[in-house]
Amino acid sequence: MNTTFVAAKAGANMAKKLESNFDFNNSEIQNLKYIISTFGCQMNYSDSERLASLLESYGYSAAESLEEATLVIFNTCSIKQKAEDKVLGQMKVIAKMKKKNPNVIFGITGCMTRTTSSRLSTQKDKLLTQLKELDFVFQIQDLPKVGELLKQVKPNLSILEASEADLDSYFKIQPKYATQFQAYIPIMTGCDKFCTYCIVPYSRGREKSRKIDDIYLEATQLVESGCKEITLLGQNVNSYGLSWNDKKSGLFSYQENPFVQLLKKLDTIPGLLRLRFTSPHPQDMTNDVIDFIADSRTLMPYIHLPLQSGSDYILKRMNRNYDTLKFKSIVDYIRKRIPDCTISTDIIIGFCGETEEYYLETYKFFEEIGFDLAFISQFSARRGTAADKLMTDDVSREEKAKRWHQLNDLLRKTSLKRNQYFEGKTVKVLVEKLNESTGLLHGRNEHYKEVVFAGSLELIGQIVEVQIDKALEWLLEGKLS
Ligand code: SF4
Repeated sequence: MNTTFVAAKAGANMAKKLESNFDFNNSEIQNLKYIISTFGCQMNYSDSERLASLLESYGYSAAESLEEATLVIFNTCSIKQKAEDKVLGQMKVIAKMKKKNPNVIFGITGCMTRTTSSRLSTQKDKLLTQLKELDFVFQIQDLPKVGELLKQVKPNLSILEASEADLDSYFKIQPKYATQFQAYIPIMTGCDKFCTYCIVPYSRGREKSRKIDDIYLEATQLVESGCKEITLLGQNVNSYGLSWNDKKSGLFSYQENPFVQLLKKLDTIPGLLRLRFTSPHPQDMTNDVIDFIADSRTLMPYIHLPLQSGSDYILKRMNRNYDTLKFKSIVDYIRKRIPDCTISTDIIIGFCGETEEYYLETYKFFEEIGFDLAFISQFSARRGTAADKLMTDDVSREEKAKRWHQLNDLLRKTSLKRNQYFEGKTVKVLVEKLNESTGLLHGRNEHYKEVVFAGSLELIGQIVEVQIDKALEWLLEGKLS
């Protein structure tokens, strides 16, 4: 499987507790080993960290391999048909596992699910009727119900009781972070925007934000244990505190933008070196957020601002709630306050009704902005969305592919040009990993540019200074200075 497994080992105490729970007559079921296969965006990876931690509180420990696992959970993405196909393509592996060991439990969460249910529920998620290998599905906001679902599927499964705090809410589940020096913190979940192509408001529910104090506490604990860089996550991070749910909760004061209040508080954490967030929505991107990024100690000069289309007609059909004029005014203000800020975006090519003329508007606008980076995808209708129900997917596959290539060729040029700004400069790089095939270290500078250079393994997790010798389309090459 070419996906990432989030997994971790249970502690010695947990192993002891498990020993007493172990049913030797039913060892296949009681061998509690999990594996989580995560697809899609950073939000899913962060959710998998919470899921891993919850499973460990039930007494599960990470399986070293798929063969060893007795519980397999797919955290899915359905942004594109390809993403769903990738998940469904793994079914043969699961069927093979189940044939060999019928006690293996298989669950699915993430964007492909619509309800929380198991094979025994009266109202089942569609996936349960489509995939005979599947035992249960859950929406990510129902994470605390996973224990209940496992017991429904295998009533004699000896799992431990999760703590009251863990069961209280999704946000209270303490995640199992993938690295010590970088961490992702979800600050809100769900979405109220209802873009016509997107399934998230149906799969994740409405926008709901987390308390500032809880986020601050999680961030402080992370920094105390050695974390240098924190990325705040949300479907629309800058809509933090603004939803109908949030206003009703009474948790937020509105004398100042709640997102700015949160950033200001996190900026005071001693020892926090880098703060990032993804993704903001242009509709709620106000100048006070940009001003604070420009003035703060920890916020890095990088903003991912999803455009989706450079045609006002298409933006309207997508229900994006902004036009190109508004988008351009945000970019202008970012460049006024933070002149060298990296700006990246998302584009959907070939949306319903995108004629050649509308596509050319996107091409021109994309060129005018000069993005550093873009994630360009070809439209495919997602089941259950307004685009699927009410519009026609009328751009041919060949045309979508042609436009996609043209836009990527343009991106190569703009990206290289933006990267050349760093040639001859010395940048600060947080070293993330060693590329085993080249033997070079990889990391990111403050502007989120990937930097490669020669150095020793001990530098992983450190911030070092690198002199940039050469800019490539997607990389900066340099040497330690
Ligand atoms: S803002 Fe639009 S694209 Fe983003 S999660 Fe919400 S509905 Fe989906």
